Amino acid sequence: MEQRMKTFGPGRTNTLLICFLLAAGAPRVAGASLPRIRILATGGTIAGAQSQVAGARFKSGVLSAEDLIASVPQLREIATVTTEQICNIGSQTMNNQIWLKLAKRLAEVLKDANIDGVVITHGTDTMEETAYFLDLVVKSDKPIVMVGAMRPASSMSADGPMNIYNAVALAANPEARSRGVLVVLSNEIHYAREVEKTNTTRMDAFESPNRGRAGVINDGEALLFARPDLKHGLRSEFSVNSLAELPSVEIVYSYANFGRDMIDFLAQKKVKGIILAGVGDGHTTEEAMAGLRDAVAQGVVVVRSTRVHSGVTRRNIEVNDDEMGSIASEELTPQKARILLMLGLTKTSSVKALQRYFFEY
Ligand code: GLU
Repeated sequence: MEQRMKTFGPGRTNTLLICFLLAAGAPRVAGASLPRIRILATGGTIAGAQSQVAGARFKSGVLSAEDLIASVPQLREIATVTTEQICNIGSQTMNNQIWLKLAKRLAEVLKDANIDGVVITHGTDTMEETAYFLDLVVKSDKPIVMVGAMRPASSMSADGPMNIYNAVALAANPEARSRGVLVVLSNEIHYAREVEKTNTTRMDAFESPNRGRAGVINDGEALLFARPDLKHGLRSEFSVNSLAELPSVEIVYSYANFGRDMIDFLAQKKVKGIILAGVGDGHTTEEAMAGLRDAVAQGVVVVRSTRVHSGVTRRNIEVNDDEMGSIASEELTPQKARILLMLGLTKTSSVKALQRYFFEY
């Protein structure tokens, strides 16, 4: 992990004073009264630029954390910002190993008494997954804010600078404490558990369809709504402290005429869990259902979720989970059900205990 850190700030009002103090050999104290925010950068469109590669018009993760901050000089008015580059990738290539590294580093940074809040810059494609993973394993009441952009930094009317400004302002806001991981884009604030990317290109691409948004934010001024009441963060049973890897859990996607080949393949590969991105309330074809039953009989944990982007997949509605030995994902999308199941499997393989996690988290 690259741990090069750079400090930005203080504000321009203090610049003359600092020059004087530095010239006089005095210790650097200016900016001490501003909130101290660490930015952990991971890449994405927010750090992306037009690409020189033939056939591809855009490349994620080109600019460094320092470049991003330099494009928003107004940050110096609201926080003393330090940066750290964790990785510089398009978030479509995010993986379990980077999640573990990021979660461990984030926990260390949050323990630092000189840090008041953390902002994580990230591609929008898998931001909701990283947000939920961190929400379940990082134990701190300090603000943790994830931010991305829909337009590359080099495009007309790039949204990244304003999004970063809002994210840093939110991370510096005491009202954002004890809310777990928050996601900020397009003047809206979302909870990690609720947020979903629902559009490929629109700037307001994120929604929280089931329980609603965490708040709104304009020019750094946040209005926060009700706090989440399900388990996460400090109340979570999950931790990455002693984990070097995560159990293998894969997702299968249902559609008309879906067969069982992919399910059989995964069971033969001895994956620990399969998430069904089912139709409707987490259902699938008779053939695929038979494949899932056989997978359960071979010791694979099966969780039923839905390809529908909102709503609840409940136990024993159209599928008899008691008889099948399956788990219902409740409100979790397939990609978030995968995260909770991976973490759940680090604690237990009991279907009853795993179902409890889906009721409580
Ligand atoms: N696919 C890239 C990523 O997720 C670009 C999308 C984005 O950041 O908006 O990093």
